[in-house]
Amino acid sequence: MSRITEILARAVREPHALTRDELALLLAQRDPGAQREIYAAAYEVKVRHVGRVVSLRGIVEMGNVCAKNCFYCGIRRDNRVLERYQLDEPEILEAVQRNIALQYGSIVLQSGEIESEAHTLFIEQLLRKITAMTDGTLGITLSLGEQTADTFRRWRSAGAHRYLLRIETSNPRLYARFHPADHSLERRRECLRHLRTYDYQVGSGVMSGLPGQTCGDLADDILFFHEMDVDMIGMGPYIPHHDTPLGRDIPFTKEYAASHLNIGLNVIAATRLYLHNVNIAATTALHALADDGREQGVLAGANVIMPNVSDVAYRRRYQLYENKPAFDESAEESRDELARRLQGIGETINWNKRGDSPRYAARKLVSGE
Ligand code: SAM
Ligand code: SF4
Repeated sequence: MSRITEILARAVREPHALTRDELALLLAQRDPGAQREIYAAAYEVKVRHVGRVVSLRGIVEMGNVCAKNCFYCGIRRDNRVLERYQLDEPEILEAVQRNIALQYGSIVLQSGEIESEAHTLFIEQLLRKITAMTDGTLGITLSLGEQTADTFRRWRSAGAHRYLLRIETSNPRLYARFHPADHSLERRRECLRHLRTYDYQVGSGVMSGLPGQTCGDLADDILFFHEMDVDMIGMGPYIPHHDTPLGRDIPFTKEYAASHLNIGLNVIAATRLYLHNVNIAATTALHALADDGREQGVLAGANVIMPNVSDVAYRRRYQLYENKPAFDESAEESRDELARRLQGIGETINWNKRGDSPRYAARKLVSGE
């Protein structure tokens, strides 16, 4: 039995069974035969926990105004060439209606990071309307950056169930390299702890393939997800954007796309093999690197896809990175295409279901709630 085969047999049997070095070894594989074996093992674990089923959440890009200045992101505060927008309440509710008509079962409300009482109140009132409009049946995920504990509490009691806050990288040295000095990794960690206190399904994640990032760093990221006991993971490869300090000098070539797709899939598979019962997204960044990137993500162990349900008129202004897909495609066209593609790999869609994290349900069971 090869070393990889032995590691995979152990990882498939039970969660948290690998060492940091073993995770790093899986993450480093580039040989197509070894990768096939790793992805098949991760897919087996995915199927055991959620079946051959993918849950969908329509993502609404509510606005591109951001107070932060992350060096990699196309909507960072200092990107002066970008025209800023913020959807008003009727526009957001229209996107929610679109999501319901598409039968996605859950929605993700995302935007740049704004911390103010006016913004907190706007989101709070919006959440109450969405909850009333859908009788509380729609899964609501927020992805609105760092906020105070009290803001998280208010949004949770107004109807949000899940929150996605990526740590971006758990390595403090890398974090400092890709963010201005006043952005704090420790505050991100603290926010994740607050989210757990208020009983959100907590999501985190990282970017893979950042300059200078090693397989050991990515193994540490997976151990970090375990340490924080997260319920959901949203990870994607880093893709350059020409109007950012980090992306300006990195050419986005075919080779870049192929190698970063590879890393992205390896991280999904290793995360599934280590954590087992979490929700893992095959993110839009995979789709930006290959037409079938999201399906490849599912076959490497992901079980969630977040199609864009934003009005096409605004999509160009939410360009986080180069080649972000489906600029001109309507939400209906994207849905039909995705359904065809998932059927093609033998997966069915969890239509009209929230698709909550099995990890969250298991924790509740243990705590007797
Ligand atoms: N502002 C909120 C936040 O940062 O949590 C939510 C929106 S932000 C655009 C969502 C995610 O986009 C970030 O967590 C980051 O990982 C990802 N992102 C930003 N720029 C990216 C890039 N160039 N390549 C890949 N992902 C990127
Ligand atoms: Fe703002 Fe989020 Fe982009 Fe950072 S990643 S600049 S917080 S939108």
